[in-house]
Amino acid sequence: MAKDYFGVKEFYDKSKMFKPFLDRLNGFREDLGKKVFLTSSNSPAQKHVATSDHPGGYAVDFTTEENSPRRVYELMVKHGFGGIGLYRTADRRYYYHCAFGGKDISDKWLGYVDAKGNIKYKALDEKVLKKFFGEEV
Ligand SMILES: [Zn+2]
Repeated sequence: MAKDYFGVKEFYDKSKMFKPFLDRLNGFREDLGKKVFLTSSNSPAQKHVATSDHPGGYAVDFTTEENSPRRVYELMVKHGFGGIGLYRTADRRYYYHCAFGGKDISDKWLGYVDAKGNIKYKALDEKVLKKFFGEEV
């Protein structure tokens, strides 16, 4: 069992987070070996899609000290998260969504901002991943 890497202040309400999800998140954090900063957890006030796993405490968004987005992605897959979102800001900073599963089980997507400033989503496949990870030849 991994230690608990995430403090109460990092969550909207840590006591209402789904415990098996937190256990999985800590296992991922331990394996990663780099700091993880939660940017969104279970706040009902933050904007999420209607089927979001956030309000129920089944998902977080985060940034990390880890510089390799592929390593972050592969460890999220390894630890069995059912929902994985990859995002990159205009200044090329990466951030991530991970969810326990359930409603959004095995959903993996890339989020990006279109020309009008709206967040759009597309399904992940290896081609999309390579582009996102900057591995194009
Ligand atoms: Zn999210």
